[in-house]
Amino acid sequence: MTNEICLECGLKPEPGQPNCQTQRDELMARDFEQPALYWAFHRMAVDAYCLQHAPYVASAKSLAAHLCGLCIAFERGRNAGQLRQLQQWLSTNPKIEKPELPAQRGAITIGQVYGISDPVQFGKAVEAWASSVWEAYRSLQPLARDWLSEAVAVRR
Ligand SMILES: [Zn+2]
Repeated sequence: MTNEICLECGLKPEPGQPNCQTQRDELMARDFEQPALYWAFHRMAVDAYCLQHAPYVASAKSLAAHLCGLCIAFERGRNAGQLRQLQQWLSTNPKIEKPELPAQRGAITIGQVYGISDPVQFGKAVEAWASSVWEAYRSLQPLARDWLSEAVAVRR
């Protein structure tokens, strides 16, 4: 069963590679086991993966979390303060509507990231992956920016 194609992201594992879910589990586990090497790209990898898999962005709140995460990564210089404000805003359960997800969610998948052990190469691969997802969500980018403006405007 190693050659199962993922219906969400389109990954077709190479012969001998595990399926999408297992690749994800292994990469996430490695981030926690060797944070000094891989943690820097953990958030970006999680956002990219979730946005490519509809069950992970089933609610407006989870979609906002991951889409705004990539917006902060690519347009706000990975601003840690904004990530915190985003988290705080989402914890208030803001009344937001979930739009339709794009049918195509990025040409690059976890398969191009899986198996890279060099941290620098890994970081570049995650960035390329996440960037292809952000691009695929182009029609929802204005919405992500609106959500983020709301998030950073909240002062408590
Ligand atoms: Zn997948």
